[in-house]
Amino acid sequence: MKYIVGNWKMYPRSLAEAKEIVAEVKAIARKAVMKKVQPVICPPSVFLAGLMGSGSSLQFGGQNAAAIGEGPFTGEVSPVQLASLGAKYVILGHSERRALGESDADVAAKAIAAVKAGLMVILCVGEKERDHDGHYFVEVANQLRGSLANFPESKSVQLMIAYEPIWAIGVNATHPATPRDHQEMSMLLRRTLAELFGKQKGFHIPLLYGGSVDAKNAQSFLDIGADGLLVGRTSLRAKDFALIIHNAVQNNA
Ligand code: PEP
Repeated sequence: MKYIVGNWKMYPRSLAEAKEIVAEVKAIARKAVMKKVQPVICPPSVFLAGLMGSGSSLQFGGQNAAAIGEGPFTGEVSPVQLASLGAKYVILGHSERRALGESDADVAAKAIAAVKAGLMVILCVGEKERDHDGHYFVEVANQLRGSLANFPESKSVQLMIAYEPIWAIGVNATHPATPRDHQEMSMLLRRTLAELFGKQKGFHIPLLYGGSVDAKNAQSFLDIGADGLLVGRTSLRAKDFALIIHNAVQNNA
């Protein structure tokens, strides 16, 4: 299965706009799933209930969740609540949340609570910048280990990793990453996952790429072996996002 995940961040402004995008993606979701391409949208959680209709192949997720199922925490959304709406995924450890102060330990606690609630965790890791000595490999491996501290081995089937180099994300991206960048990092991620969960389990955890993915470059990451894509800005442009899914379907024979 290839996962094409849209991270909508704090967009769009209204539920009406959100419904328009979803309608366009829903239209191709059934065919996509038949060809082993799973489209997923992670909207602002406040829109989830208004977007999730029954009977569609399009799946949904949250962009964050608390580290416990319930409690007196004003403003938080629990993974149990996301799951109760029918959300299947939650993005955790996104660099924009880490920039707000979320540590590896915070992410690890959230990941454990999320899988306990039955969600698939899309765990984001990625270096701030690259150096010539390759220290960024160590940085990402440590981030992965820290973000999966005490993660139950038996729940590895509920885990996906999104490699998102920070320098390639959003409008401030210095330059796009290449499929080769993703491929090299994937080797390190696989090795680290094998250390944590054993070879067999580590091998089956999907590795996604994210960072300035658009309709032009998306397929090049999938072609080189990425198990999916985490798409920010472009996932809000319904036609482009649908085109990414369409191309993935055509090439996933
Ligand atoms: C993201 O925020 O996860 C992301 C990859 O953003 P963008 O595609 O806009 O770079």
